[in-house]
Amino acid sequence: MSHSAKVTVSPVDLHMHSRYSDGSLDVPDLVLRASGRGVRLMALTDHDNTAGLAAAASATRENGIHLLPGVEVSCQWNGVGLHVVGLGIDAGCPVLQAGLEKIMAFRDWRAMEIGQRLAGAGMPGAEEGARTVAGSRMVGRMHFARWLVQGGFCGDTARAFELFLGSGRVAYVPSDWIPLPEAVSWIRAAGGLPVLAHPGRYRLSSPRLRELLSEFREMEGAGLEVCSGSQAAGDREYLGRLAREFSLAGSVGSDFHGPDCGHADIGQLLPLPEGVEPVWERTGLAPGCLSVSSC
Ligand code: AMP
Ligand code: MN
Ligand code: MN
Ligand code: MN
Repeated sequence: MSHSAKVTVSPVDLHMHSRYSDGSLDVPDLVLRASGRGVRLMALTDHDNTAGLAAAASATRENGIHLLPGVEVSCQWNGVGLHVVGLGIDAGCPVLQAGLEKIMAFRDWRAMEIGQRLAGAGMPGAEEGARTVAGSRMVGRMHFARWLVQGGFCGDTARAFELFLGSGRVAYVPSDWIPLPEAVSWIRAAGGLPVLAHPGRYRLSSPRLRELLSEFREMEGAGLEVCSGSQAAGDREYLGRLAREFSLAGSVGSDFHGPDCGHADIGQLLPLPEGVEPVWERTGLAPGCLSVSSC
């Protein structure tokens, strides 16, 4: 989508990725882009690791914008893979780091498995290739997808998921992610707010989503990503109603992965619907600081 026309940029964007997971920008470039687009409060939420947060803290300081240190934890609930964003975490928390280490170890094993499956299907060298593409420890399916595109095995990364990496495909490894309550408890242990990411992406029926939200609330979940970068028309109002019904705060996050990833840009988000409590008001940030440039 071009941003030549009048695009209002949300001053808050609490979900995005750097090269420390499967984003394509380095942390300083990501922060520069956020600040250049008019974002005043951002969260860096790389998948299952916090390696980028120190660089994000200094880059946001240099650019005069606010950072909520974050992470996006891969987990599961009743066999459904879910993502929970932790906002305002203390990355030094041993409970959180021990938990994330379990997931990263699982990712290491899964990368080897994916590599073996691709080799068996005539595409050798994928694990090493994906690790080179990744450039940091976190290896995800997106890195394999990029390697497959580079190798000419498919035209784009969406096709790589369709052909090889998606559920039921030749290189799909059924994943035993950690249970949802563990993800929530690690984030809470680190002083963070657990937010259910992109709820529209799990294809849950309304009764199932309500069941999930009810349990999430019971286990100390704090928020729901009501506005996300890739959601269907009408989701925002629907999710806003659910946030109010289950006493969850609302979050807004683009889930930006890079300029070439075909999704929403940083801050390309609608505001929270009326009556939904902004999750960032539950953090230690000074009230009103989003409207004061020196704050
Ligand atoms: P992983 O966590 O390693 O299983 O990879 C999932 C990540 O791949 C998501 O966070 C997305 O960034 C990316 N992705 C891109 N396209 C797809 C797709 N069609 N299906 C699943 N994941 C996708
Ligand atoms: Mn991703
Ligand atoms: Mn996600
Ligand atoms: Mn994400």
